[in-house]
Amino acid sequence: MLRVAVVGSGPSGVYTAQSLVEQTLVPDVRVDVLDRLPCPYGLVRYGVAPDHEKIKSLQNNLRAVLEHERIGFVGNVPVGAGGVSPERLLELYHAVVYCVGAARDRRLGVPGEDLAGSFSATDFVSWYSAHPDASAFGFALDGRSAVVVGVGNVAVDVTRVLARGPEELRPTDVPQSALGALAASGVREVHMVGRRGPSQARFTTKELRELGTLPSARVGVEPADLALDPAYADPSGLPAVNRRNVEVIREWAAAPPVPDPAARSIRLRFFLRPVEILGEGGRVAAVRFERTEPDGAGGVRGTGRYEEIAAGLVLRAVGYRGAPPEGLPFDPVRGTVPHAAGRVLRDGAPSRGEYVSGWIKRGPSGVIGTNRPCAKETAASLLRDAPLLARRTVPDDPVAVLRAWGLRPVEWPGWLSIEEAEAALGRTLGRGPVKIPDWPGLLAAAGGG
Ligand SMILES: Cc1cc2nc3c(=O)[nH]c(=O)nc-3n(C[C@H](O)[C@H](O)[C@H](O)COP(=O)(O)OP(=O)(O)OC[C@H]3O[C@@H](n4cnc5c(N)ncnc54)[C@H](O)[C@@H]3O)c2cc1C
Repeated sequence: MLRVAVVGSGPSGVYTAQSLVEQTLVPDVRVDVLDRLPCPYGLVRYGVAPDHEKIKSLQNNLRAVLEHERIGFVGNVPVGAGGVSPERLLELYHAVVYCVGAARDRRLGVPGEDLAGSFSATDFVSWYSAHPDASAFGFALDGRSAVVVGVGNVAVDVTRVLARGPEELRPTDVPQSALGALAASGVREVHMVGRRGPSQARFTTKELRELGTLPSARVGVEPADLALDPAYADPSGLPAVNRRNVEVIREWAAAPPVPDPAARSIRLRFFLRPVEILGEGGRVAAVRFERTEPDGAGGVRGTGRYEEIAAGLVLRAVGYRGAPPEGLPFDPVRGTVPHAAGRVLRDGAPSRGEYVSGWIKRGPSGVIGTNRPCAKETAASLLRDAPLLARRTVPDDPVAVLRAWGLRPVEWPGWLSIEEAEAALGRTLGRGPVKIPDWPGLLAAAGGG
């Protein structure tokens, strides 16, 4: 028997486990999927926006894998700080595959970034997704205006959540406290701002177009921004997704929204680079931007002209990066663990029994499905190494050893209890399942006291 630990129960961890058990090359592979959280599914539970029910329902596919007879879920087990070290974990399994993701935010690197009211989009997403590490975040939604820096899909997600009315979010699993704060929100304008032009924005067209369909919000664009983009006037030479994005923006420019005092407004802005977050009394009051222009080589350059946008809330959505997993080698430039076809490289040589998959292997890009071929590649490397790996003796019951080491694993029945508790909480609120947003609540629901 080959015993494998997969660390991380997001898409890459689950797809890796699936690739390891659904093959015939190496019979009887058993996989424990560990996670530091008592809940599985990684960013599908804690990142994908709550109003994107179809993508959220991918959790059902991941669940079917985790219910496989040779796969076990072992939550509430951090690998590294406060948990079990990679070295000790290798005593329990023939191989360990790290699928720990890369969801740490990038900073803008401008003065004022740490003022109250300035957050990463990651923090905001974690808050409305009920990530238990985010339960203490308090978002000031009393200002009239919010600025979202970035023009990718995460920027679109947080803009949309800010612009939606409470009745639109109520049917989702948004935690009750976040729903209450969003319902009481004073935000009437959300400015989503990119430093380059509309033809270079990174959002996908479906997500962009959705902004124009929100019942309680209207999208506006600034003709002066658009005029700066040479590809805006003639998008025919652009890659398909950028061309379609420009077409959507052109439609909005051609039919500016009819003023509606009852609606929130979403303003798409381009060619503005944040240079400072301005404060008043220790809180965010505005963002100062430098106007940029195309530099003729695909980038932008500053023009020395500045503009301020008032804001009581600033969310930066300018990308993710991996954090160094404790005890593993790390490439700080790429933000990933060095590897060859999924085999972890220590000092350039494959480290016996250690593998990576998903965002921590290839960086934070691609959609959920991109993690599937990535996982297959890693699983194939591991299975090829199996004869060598299986020579070592490992304990029959690694979870019992984890317990003996003082950890308090939450296994599949514990997770099912959390699900039941979330359904019960929803019923008391007249809603569908509502997520439990804090550690004590999750552990109590799991039966851990
Ligand atoms: C805000 C946001 C929204 C997104 N929306 C979409 C979308 O709508 N559609 C789409 O296709 N893609 C979306 N994506 C991308 C998608 O979520 C990723 O492609 C995918 O989640 C990456 O999978 P992963 O398994 O590598 O990482 P993750 O999903 O991040 O999973 C990593 C797991 O590892 C666990 N972990 C981390 N460190 C440790 C540790 N030390 N010990 C134990 N466990 C650990 C974490 O708790 C987590 O469960 C979104 C991404 C973000 C950030």
